Amino acid sequence: MSERVADAHVDVLMRMVEEGLSFDDGRLSAGHTALTAGGVGTQVFALFVWPHLSPQDQLEQVLRELDCFYRQVVTSGTVEAVRTWQDAETAMAKGRIAGLLSLEGGGCLHGQVHVLRNLYDLGVRGMGLTWNDANELADGCREPRGAGLTRAGREVVRELVRLGMWVDIAHLSDRGVYDVFDLVDAPVMASHANARAVYNHPRNLNDDVIQEVVRRNGWIGLTFEASFLGNPSDVTVDDALRHLEHLLELGAEDCVGFGSDFDGTSHPVPGLSSAADYGTLRLGIAKRYGENVAAKVCAGNFERYLRQILS
Ligand SMILES: [Zn+2]
Repeated sequence: MSERVADAHVDVLMRMVEEGLSFDDGRLSAGHTALTAGGVGTQVFALFVWPHLSPQDQLEQVLRELDCFYRQVVTSGTVEAVRTWQDAETAMAKGRIAGLLSLEGGGCLHGQVHVLRNLYDLGVRGMGLTWNDANELADGCREPRGAGLTRAGREVVRELVRLGMWVDIAHLSDRGVYDVFDLVDAPVMASHANARAVYNHPRNLNDDVIQEVVRRNGWIGLTFEASFLGNPSDVTVDDALRHLEHLLELGAEDCVGFGSDFDGTSHPVPGLSSAADYGTLRLGIAKRYGENVAAKVCAGNFERYLRQILS
């Protein structure tokens, strides 16, 4: 059985650009060394930009991170840029990491779908409409107004589905999530979010949303930001497993995996702060739920999801 790992969200591109780090810098939690040590087979690299910047500045930053991906990450020889599931399988068969790109927050679109189409042509295959704040597309989960999708946001969601990109509901307001559910039948995903019933945080998903994602055969990536897992001062790896347990209880055995947020966390989890820690996490899951569930959670489920969306 495959022992590889799939991870739907890291912010290593942002750190490389902002801090001027190279992909093999040992300080990165999802750089060359850590990804290789953790047995990562599929890695989604997020294009994250701070939403307080103007749409023009956000787009410029997105382009800078794209350039970093193609000029520094892909040229390292570890990661191959892939756009279809077949590309991903070919890359992994060669012993490379299948590298995908997603957009975290749509402020850089300035409400225009043609910008999205250009990003698709540059290899971006998934998108979350917002970060925590509101933008032209929707309200994020920390926007006090709590509104849903704007007209432009609806257009973008329809275009994502039409292009064959994944719709990521992580960071979106609850109202926005239900608007997405009403608008499209697509198997949406939450790239990095945990269960609100286990720890009440606006970035976590309520049971009703989790069950709807499962019903659609979508996917949810557990994330290792301590402040979403429990009281950040005493969070351990067991807290991540408590969130996994809850998702399994809700029937997500075929729809749950990881979106670590490595290189993007404000509160790292001791023992689970880098892709190099995946081996230990995998052992913990296999011990509790058996090898079959561990293989599905660690890679199989996200690979199944990508096969479905990117074929
Ligand atoms: Zn995030």
